[in-house]
Amino acid sequence: MSTNSREQSSLSRRGTTISWRATDGPLTQELVLKPGKFGLGQVPAALQPDAMTQMVCGFCSTGCSLNIHLRCGKAVNLTPSVDYPVNLGMACPKGWEALSVLDSADRGTTPLLRDGRGKLRPVGWHEAMETFCRRFQKIQALHGMESIAFLSTGQITTEEMALLGALTKFGMGMVDGDGNTRQCMATSVVAYKQAFGFDAPPYTYQDFEESDVIVLVGSNLCIAHPIMWQRVLNNPHGPEIIVVDPRRTETAMAATQHLALRPKSDLALLYGLANILIREDWIDRQYIESHTSGFNEFRGHVAEFAPDHVASVSGVDVKQLYKVATTIHEGRRVSFWWTMGVNQSYEGVRTAQAIINLALMTGNIGRPGTGANSITGQCNAMGSRLFSNTTNLLGGRDFANAKDRRNVADILSIDASCIPDRPSWSYNEIIEGILRDKIKGLWIIGTNTAHSWINQNTCHDILDRLDFLVVQDMYSTTETVRRADLFLPAAGWGEKDGTFINSERRIGLIKKIAQAPGQALADFSIFRLIAEHWGCGKMFADWSDPEAVFQKLKQISRGQPCDITGIRDYQMIEARGGIQWPFAETDHHTPREGNLENHRRLFEDGQFFHADGRAKFLFELPREMPESPNSHYPYLLLTGRGTAAQWHTQTRTAKSAVLQQLGPRQIYVEINPQDARVEGIRSSQDVIVESQRGRLRAKAFVTPTVQPGQVFIPMHYDATNKLTLAHFDPYSKQPSYKDCAVRVRCVESWDDV
Ligand code: SF4
Repeated sequence: MSTNSREQSSLSRRGTTISWRATDGPLTQELVLKPGKFGLGQVPAALQPDAMTQMVCGFCSTGCSLNIHLRCGKAVNLTPSVDYPVNLGMACPKGWEALSVLDSADRGTTPLLRDGRGKLRPVGWHEAMETFCRRFQKIQALHGMESIAFLSTGQITTEEMALLGALTKFGMGMVDGDGNTRQCMATSVVAYKQAFGFDAPPYTYQDFEESDVIVLVGSNLCIAHPIMWQRVLNNPHGPEIIVVDPRRTETAMAATQHLALRPKSDLALLYGLANILIREDWIDRQYIESHTSGFNEFRGHVAEFAPDHVASVSGVDVKQLYKVATTIHEGRRVSFWWTMGVNQSYEGVRTAQAIINLALMTGNIGRPGTGANSITGQCNAMGSRLFSNTTNLLGGRDFANAKDRRNVADILSIDASCIPDRPSWSYNEIIEGILRDKIKGLWIIGTNTAHSWINQNTCHDILDRLDFLVVQDMYSTTETVRRADLFLPAAGWGEKDGTFINSERRIGLIKKIAQAPGQALADFSIFRLIAEHWGCGKMFADWSDPEAVFQKLKQISRGQPCDITGIRDYQMIEARGGIQWPFAETDHHTPREGNLENHRRLFEDGQFFHADGRAKFLFELPREMPESPNSHYPYLLLTGRGTAAQWHTQTRTAKSAVLQQLGPRQIYVEINPQDARVEGIRSSQDVIVESQRGRLRAKAFVTPTVQPGQVFIPMHYDATNKLTLAHFDPYSKQPSYKDCAVRVRCVESWDDV
């Protein structure tokens, strides 16, 4: 059988994606396609599998399912699952390489403790735990219970997040702990909560295939979510694809309409579209009347955003604005999608709500192919949003609400006074808390703060002020581990059990199919070990394993919009091809014929989660960009994802030889040919990019995909955040990574950085 007949790397009339499709044929034939662990070509006979199991991928929020091929109980290979409603037999390069990145020389195999000479040296778990508890408890005794905090991740399982949040806040006396989801999803969380009454993305991936108009705002779906993009390409209706993005991204190139707006003019542009839709009476009055509040005020607000004015602000001409508004009006099923181009902004919440407003006013919500749909980033960002016990109390509840605290305390059989009565500081407030000497000890779990946090030089300086920094990670060499006093080695995806929740609210399983290296332990086991050593082990005696915690989370979810009491157990999740929340035991769930039919969307009845059942129109005047280009720093720096083969700080993807070949290893800066001429820069030349906060050396990539006056650097390289400006959305506290002023010049000598 030919390999080519089964491989699909170029699938569309509009463009290509780098994904490969498995088959539902015999396993041995599928293996021929494998570009991952054992390279392309025939798998050696000794590695032919004798069993197979399914689990969801551990990189991004798409939540693809992978068939793990086992031989003698050991994972030897993988292929994407054909019978799973998310990926339908596809995976992007990261998914194909999910096993490969587990094998790496820099996996943490033993705890490491910094000695008197400043070196990290191996210690046993007992010494590590004794040190962890002694040092943190001493800080609390000297500076107060709230002087230690944690920063967590969207990459561990929901059960681990819940145990960590409960351990730290109910057992260890911490109040402040936030997730790295603050860097990607906080804006959507707040936008949804304010507009819908709960953090509730309404869609199912089926909507990508059912829309006749797809509007993508600040989303390079083709690169950031390749399998979702593949679902767009599967759409049989020949949809209009409208991309709103300053860059001519891979997705914009494949779109039918690209609005190459000026950076951060998206809020004005969206209000301008609302203005046209109202002016032309292209709105759904009945839907607005029956299911929303605040429309009249919104109409008054957008009256100020006449097309001429919006054209001058955004750089998108009036004709093009009208064309988009007309397309939305003529569409029967219009879906609006956004991701980091919206979320990572100093006015992200109001921008996300401006998108929500368009869906509400045109009645494009709660029906197939519609919705105001935020796409998540990390594999378990949604688990973090609902069950991490960081800024929300477990189950999307409120720390400041005494009734919520009592409910949770009753379910967990703990004293309600153990539960903090205020929400946590957000990530940026914790970082500022270190600077203000309020936080003296920090525990970082599964995130690479020293690389990914905005304005890196300041961030490094702040981390170095801590009395005690503990980092828990799979790898012992990240930029953050290098600054740690104590390192705790953790198992990764594939080395432990639990659940993730994907972008479309689908709960999926991960399983232990490989042994963690050396003494590395599942995060779950590390948290339980800490509970014992800290002296609060009794409180978590029945948090014995991930599935026991899942059963607790079910009870905590009861009566909440994310109610999952109808999910019996892990086996049921597996049998149904993942289960989307809500799934209450009181709901009637028609058994479906096969997994592929298993998808649901929210708000089909027009009922939202506010007390009056209505969705709110929310709006505000756009604000000035805090650091516009000027005569000293004439370019605006945009950051974002570089390729589908790179994941965040590349802690994992840099470990795969295959993935390394699919993206540039060296940091590069995209610059428009016009600007390159002015600066005397040629492609592949070394250049210095400099902001008021720092400088870096990069290869120039001269390309018209960025507009004149703008440059683009991918976020995956450790130097990128030397340049960025620490500023935040006032409501979500999410960092605004995509706007700061820089200058670019040729390297004059090799010492020139
Ligand atoms: Fe994994 Fe995301 Fe790629 Fe799917 S799209 S294989 S979930 S990284």
